[in-house]
Amino acid sequence: MLQLSNDLSFDTADGVETGNSGDMAALNLSRLIAAAADAIADHAEALTALDQAIGDGDHGLNMKRGFEAVRGEAEAFSAKPLPEALKAIGTKLVMTVGGASGPLFGTFFMALGKEISAEPDRVNLTTAFGKAIDAVAARGKSQPGQKTMLDVLYPVHQALTQGKIASEIADVADNAAEATIPMRALRGRASFLGDRSIGHMDAGARSTALLVRTVAETIGERT
Ligand code: ADP
Ligand code: MG
Repeated sequence: MLQLSNDLSFDTADGVETGNSGDMAALNLSRLIAAAADAIADHAEALTALDQAIGDGDHGLNMKRGFEAVRGEAEAFSAKPLPEALKAIGTKLVMTVGGASGPLFGTFFMALGKEISAEPDRVNLTTAFGKAIDAVAARGKSQPGQKTMLDVLYPVHQALTQGKIASEIADVADNAAEATIPMRALRGRASFLGDRSIGHMDAGARSTALLVRTVAETIGERT
């Protein structure tokens, strides 16, 4: 029985943990991988359409290729301790997604694997998530406000530190992706467009929000 839902459901304002902890070892990683790959596959065309508007139109295909590759090895990944599994997923994404986003998503999962414990509680998850997104920012030489995936990752981290529950975190992610629409892109291909990047949602922000919602909902429904 997955216990992270208990961790995610604590709602103390100061982030003091009140739920069960240390039970993420029971996390059904293969189910999470399948749900993430399904979400990306279901939205591949929409992600491509976003990237067509202000990029080169490959983001949906890139993500689908990467997550199908991860799905193909879900059994092997799930047999590993969580840190090793996340590092292996990151490595696979770097090798298969391509584009700018491949190394960035790969860095996220590899850094998360480096920082997370085998049986993380909410505090460890939050700290590891924070370090993983800092690693993405370092890799991309980017920061929030530049119309990238970081504009979803940082608000999600903030929601984690605030002790928000899974459904609230998923909403924060969606709203953060929407909030990239009026931004001017300062990183990635979209930045070549200058002001013409304004008025479109960032594709990487959207795919990140999709993954956040999928993880939150899969864990929230007690896999
Ligand atoms: P490419 O831009 O090479 O075609 P993708 O289309 O797969 O790669 O991914 C584009 C997404 O990657 C963007 O929507 C943005 O969210 C993200 N991205 C690009 N460059 C950076 C960066 N320097 N820092 C953070 N995210 C970035
Ligand atoms: Mg692209």
